[in-house]
Amino acid sequence: MKANILVVEDDGAVRSLITTALTMFGYKVGHARDGAEAIMEAVSLQPELFILDLGLPDMDGVDIIARLRMWTNNPIIVVSARGEIHDKIAALDAGADDYLTKPFSVEELMARVRAALRKMSYDNSPQKGANVFVNGGLRIDYAANSVFVDNMEIHLTPMEYKLLYLLSRNVGKVLTHRYILQEIWASDFESTTQSLRVFMASLRKKIEKKRSEPLLLKTHLGIGYRMVRLQDDGV
Ligand code: CA
Repeated sequence: MKANILVVEDDGAVRSLITTALTMFGYKVGHARDGAEAIMEAVSLQPELFILDLGLPDMDGVDIIARLRMWTNNPIIVVSARGEIHDKIAALDAGADDYLTKPFSVEELMARVRAALRKMSYDNSPQKGANVFVNGGLRIDYAANSVFVDNMEIHLTPMEYKLLYLLSRNVGKVLTHRYILQEIWASDFESTTQSLRVFMASLRKKIEKKRSEPLLLKTHLGIGYRMVRLQDDGV
């Protein structure tokens, strides 16, 4: 399946130029016209790649990069009219993967998109197909449905395991309440956001070393939960 891409650009003409090209290549495209919309769409669409303009009406693109980098490692390609070397350095230092100066060639942008996605799938591949997940002191053997914390096996209820499975398979990404509820319960009961909180609390009690300072499972208030990647070389 082709990747989901979020285009953040306040200039309508440039936005539709990029969108048309991406759609032609079969990508799914989401839009944002300013920084606030970009953050919101980033959380709800969970795009595999971002194309980001720096000069936005409400926020500087460099700040958006920094915000995104708090919870996603997916590639960010900057497309900006700012061609100065210090602008590029600021964007790359904040966490952008690539930088294209306007006016740009659509063909070149598409090539950079392909390159960034290729690199990402290469980076992610050992973890995605693996049957054992390691993150800090946590180890999950998916084949055996068993979970270890600092080499001690811990016992989870089926619901806790499902929740942990989902968060670990999406390590580094914020999962919205709604997404988790649909994946785990496949239902829309109004009470389930509350039950989700209860299951999270019991899961944390079992896998976090200090419950008062959860390192592994972060809460994003009003949005959802995320498992933090504590090390990069999980096998
Ligand atoms: Ca702009």
